[in-house]
Amino acid sequence: MTIKSLKRVYYFGKTMSEGSKDMKELLGGKGANLAEMTAIGLPVPPGFTITTESCAEYNQLDRNLPKRLMQEVRSNMEILERETGKVFGSEDNPLIVSVRSGAAASMPGMMDTVLNLGLTDQSLEGLAKAFGNRRFALDAYRRLINMFGDVVMGVPHEQFEKEFDRIKSQYGAKLDTELDETGLEKLIDAYKSVYQKNTGEEFPQNPYQQLEKSVEAVFSSWNTPRAVRYREINEITGLMGTAVNIQTMVFGNMGEDSGTGVAFTRNPSTGVNKFYGEFLINAQGEDVVAGIRTPKNLDEMSVWRNDIYDQLLETKRILEDHYREMQDIEFTIERGTLYLLQTRTGKRTGVAAVKIAVDMFVEGRITRREALVRIPANDLTQLLLPTFDPKAKRDVLTVGLPASPGATFGMLAFSADEAVERSEKGESVLLVRKDTSPEDVSGMHVAVGILTSTGGMTSHAAVVARGWGKCCVAGAGEIDIDEKNRTISVQGRTFGANDIISLDGTSGEVIAGAVPTQDPELSEEFSAIMEWADEFRRLKVRTNADTPKDAKKARDFGAEGIGLCRTEHMFFEDERITDMRRMILAETEQERRSSLDNLLPHQRSDFIGIFKAMDGLPVTIRLLDPPLHEFLTQEESVQEELAEHLGITIEKVKLRLEQLHESNPMLGHRGCRLSITYPEILEMQVRAITEAAIESKNNGVDASPEIMIPLVGSARELAYLRSKVEKTIEIVKDKMSYQGTLDIAIGTMIEIPRAALTADEIAKHAEFFSFGTNDLTQMTFGFSRDDINTFLPEYIKQEILLCDPFQSLDVSGVGQLLEMGTNKGRSARNKLKIGICGEHGGDPASIEFCHNIDLDYVSCSPFRVPVARLAAAQAAIKKLSFSYD
Ligand code: ADP
Ligand code: MG
Ligand code: MG
Repeated sequence: MTIKSLKRVYYFGKTMSEGSKDMKELLGGKGANLAEMTAIGLPVPPGFTITTESCAEYNQLDRNLPKRLMQEVRSNMEILERETGKVFGSEDNPLIVSVRSGAAASMPGMMDTVLNLGLTDQSLEGLAKAFGNRRFALDAYRRLINMFGDVVMGVPHEQFEKEFDRIKSQYGAKLDTELDETGLEKLIDAYKSVYQKNTGEEFPQNPYQQLEKSVEAVFSSWNTPRAVRYREINEITGLMGTAVNIQTMVFGNMGEDSGTGVAFTRNPSTGVNKFYGEFLINAQGEDVVAGIRTPKNLDEMSVWRNDIYDQLLETKRILEDHYREMQDIEFTIERGTLYLLQTRTGKRTGVAAVKIAVDMFVEGRITRREALVRIPANDLTQLLLPTFDPKAKRDVLTVGLPASPGATFGMLAFSADEAVERSEKGESVLLVRKDTSPEDVSGMHVAVGILTSTGGMTSHAAVVARGWGKCCVAGAGEIDIDEKNRTISVQGRTFGANDIISLDGTSGEVIAGAVPTQDPELSEEFSAIMEWADEFRRLKVRTNADTPKDAKKARDFGAEGIGLCRTEHMFFEDERITDMRRMILAETEQERRSSLDNLLPHQRSDFIGIFKAMDGLPVTIRLLDPPLHEFLTQEESVQEELAEHLGITIEKVKLRLEQLHESNPMLGHRGCRLSITYPEILEMQVRAITEAAIESKNNGVDASPEIMIPLVGSARELAYLRSKVEKTIEIVKDKMSYQGTLDIAIGTMIEIPRAALTADEIAKHAEFFSFGTNDLTQMTFGFSRDDINTFLPEYIKQEILLCDPFQSLDVSGVGQLLEMGTNKGRSARNKLKIGICGEHGGDPASIEFCHNIDLDYVSCSPFRVPVARLAAAQAAIKKLSFSYD
């Protein structure tokens, strides 16, 4: 780290203003903005900022202040004294300051602010004289001894509190404000001895000594374990340290014409362009957040002091004109005069982010590009899901993983069948399971929410729920599920099938009773953002959908096709599962074909429905992918039923299950391997697709299916299956004497590393590629997605992995395969259409990567389509602005 400048202190005040908002690296966020506000003429108490570079020097010097630093501080104090007409430590009219910390990025763990610094036994009397109020001066002094002792010298705060309580009771005072001058004097003496006992020295009576110790304390707070850890976790690197802000005190506790407050220039939860905040009359600094007294809403301020409220409104205008962003400010009023103590960009909800961005464009403050990049794409999901009424009370039982956002409540169903049965009766049920498997899909579908006690963010329950935009809390390990007695117990409380539980999929909270929800309303601003995003993005956005309903929902959200239509869920519905099982249990090809013949009309009508919902848009249908055992059941009673229904013995069912058993099913007999060994399954599916396409076309629906073959690892697999698909299509066309064009594209998923490595060979037989990044990540890392819970949390905790690679694409590893697969694929076939359809297709960082390697589209779950549209636009805009500089 190189120290660039010998100037270590930057002044802000009327005398001169040396910093600006663009100097955050050097002056910290707080210091840079204090300087900026001063420069644009806002009322900021004057002061100066010691640079972050000085903090770096301090650490380089093994925790010693740079030699001439305090000299420079002293000369700035002198300027400050001249500007304010006050003298540091004076017994007449003393200069009192605050010492504050502030790095370039806001982070917890930095030193807390010390107020009232410069008060001593001597200057105390000066302050009393200057304000004509001795009680006030005494109160400020005892606060300093407490704060300085606690924050700078590490004296335990409770020891001060104890003395405070003792003296309050001695003087019969209930509130802090009821202690009179003699009481306060006693308190100061008591505080001084607490200080002395803990530090082995007297409370410093030299104000410069107070100042120096505070500056050192701020610098060393840069390396507190908490701050270091925070920077590590958030990958904040390259910062030099924290700055120190020394600023003239203003007092909000000077009486009924004084006060302090915090405000946002717009409502941070709705975005409405109205000043939003709280204030306290006759209070200092932190009292507003400390919750000792209840602050008043800013709306009430005009009743108190209309002139000050007008000043605040004018300040809001000036700040927003200048920063072109919603600001979060701190202010204090000293005897009728307003002062600003801080401003920064305000944090906001997704709803507010969208509204503020669009409003600011309409107001002419920002461009559309700026509006688009300002909104965190992920936050858009908040706009699409119901939420709990924020005012409602929550009886939180436990907190699980926030697996799929949303807010919902219902009674408890303990099996998929129960969920189906009860919801058919019109009940709202939550499906409560240890974990879920494909067998539970029907119950999951009808449930209003899903709660599991095991499983992680990528468990079956989580992935399926997210895909549907259904609320899910997973891995709530404190919950004991007693399936037999149909109860759950948690925290010593038990809930039965008819009790209501609420789930907050955004926080992971599991709540007793029904918390009222609010439905989202899609605002005009949301539509505007989506429209603008579409103008800027190059990537197309498709959706992963298996039903006409989901397809339609996704289309409403702007999906431009289906990138992944899984066919396996279709087999779980109704009586189809029986035919599916009959097919699997079949001993001869002929038997298998007869079961498949029963399934065919169902598949065909599924596809007709989807083609209709996606009229005119491409629909990529993946042929059967999971290992067959997933369609069978381990439950004995169901096995018996099945045996009886099919007229075979239960032993036969069990035997077949044994045969199908695999040690590593995810690497076993699945994907295209199924079609190679049981071509009749492929034939049935392709027949259903082709027949559906022809029937749709005959009915005026513009169906455009694409047939996707999963889990291909070599060109020969694809070549072999491709010819089977083509042959089947021709047979159907002939049989239906169809004369028109069908143009059914045939392509493959790239989800095995070998496929990416040999993409040029594979592309000879594929019209499109779709990166199945779930499996590709699994196989590239050698992680089993279903077992990942046993070690991934530890990996993240130890920061061996910085994030879950199943949620955000591992750019340096899996990303290489994507890039290579894309380049090799296009080198063999330059018109090759390439997309991605894993969970990553809805993740903004992964989408940016897809834009940068020039994919054609991303495909994600319906509820993430708006997120993907915005993220794709942001990626495009980012690239644009890079190429300008
Ligand atoms: P944080 O970064 O934790 O918000 P701050 O330094 O902003 O810490 O300040 C803590 C509180 O003290 C805030 O309410 C702030 O407005 C108040 N404060 C800081 N400096 C002064 C000052 N010079 N005069 C009056 N109040 C101050
Ligand atoms: Mg602050
Ligand atoms: Mg796959």
